Amino acid sequence: MKGFRTGSFDRGRVSGVLHPFVPAHAANSLLDVDLDEMWSRGKRLILLDVDHTIIQWGSEDFPEGVVEWVQRAKAIGFELCILSNTRKRERLGRLSAKLGIETVRGKFKPSRAMFRLALIKFKRKEEEAIMIGDQIFTDILGANRCGIEAIWVRKMEGREFAGTKINRFAERLLRSSIYRALVTPVDEQPDEAEIEGKRPPSDTTLFRQIVKFCIVGGTSFIIDAGLSMIFLRVLPWGDRLLSEALGGWLQGSFPALFGWAKNHYTAAVPVLGGLASIIAMFNSFLLNRRWTFRVKGKEERMAQLRRFYLISIIGAVLNTLITSALSNVIPAHPNQSLMIGKVVAAAVVAVWNFTGQRLYAFRSAES
Ligand SMILES: [Mg+2]
Repeated sequence: MKGFRTGSFDRGRVSGVLHPFVPAHAANSLLDVDLDEMWSRGKRLILLDVDHTIIQWGSEDFPEGVVEWVQRAKAIGFELCILSNTRKRERLGRLSAKLGIETVRGKFKPSRAMFRLALIKFKRKEEEAIMIGDQIFTDILGANRCGIEAIWVRKMEGREFAGTKINRFAERLLRSSIYRALVTPVDEQPDEAEIEGKRPPSDTTLFRQIVKFCIVGGTSFIIDAGLSMIFLRVLPWGDRLLSEALGGWLQGSFPALFGWAKNHYTAAVPVLGGLASIIAMFNSFLLNRRWTFRVKGKEERMAQLRRFYLISIIGAVLNTLITSALSNVIPAHPNQSLMIGKVVAAAVVAVWNFTGQRLYAFRSAES
């Protein structure tokens, strides 16, 4: 894995949204994990990932030094345990037998299930355990979620499971952000001019912002859709649904405004759906502010919030207008033209929102 960097991390250096993905340390191999130092800090239980951490994917021959490292850990007094959700139970059995350590199987990482099972099995507290693994989105995230110190090791050479490749791609996107939390020894710190000189001529900041903006948009879409679902179809009001009750009241109280609605439910859609959108927009505001556009400090926050909502609400109106205009104009089956309209509208509005946020809502951070 090219560009892998080792050292200790300080989460305080990066935005809170990244904290779950930041390991405590990174090492080239598990052989580099300082067992004596771990023991002196009160660590007693070592949890191990299998593939590309202690052995190559699919292999049954441990790389040089791994068996000895495990023996040394045991001699110091550590308890060790493999966490694995593999379907190849026989291989796992043989590996753990060769090392003479136990395994815990269960729901796949980053679920907390296996970590908790291991703590229970060995009667240890979170702070007495460490997790060693090669993947941010499973090993490191899972350990961090449980409050277990996570050590990230460089992936071993060799082939990988197809699903892991998707994780690796996402890891690469996240890596440069995570490395900002890396504490480099003072004498190794490259100076700013040197970093500046190495930057490729293309505007990598803009590219990174676009990628982050799309990821944030995805999270907001999920929040919007999920909350709309809950508000409209789940939340009760007495013995009815909230949406039915609210729609009935709106139609009764404001017939001029809600007379178009076929029934109580459809009358409530713009209000409750709109509320879900506004909450989802707030998610976008927080994430885009801190993560995408890296605005620091609190001074201008309220002004940015107002500008952000102005852009977003204009974006939402544009979305509705473009969707309805196109779906009426495009000669196709009504469902298809609606779909095409929605896709085009989403693309146009994404460009609108990104540009508006970059150049207007969070502009002070750009200069
Ligand atoms: Mg692995």
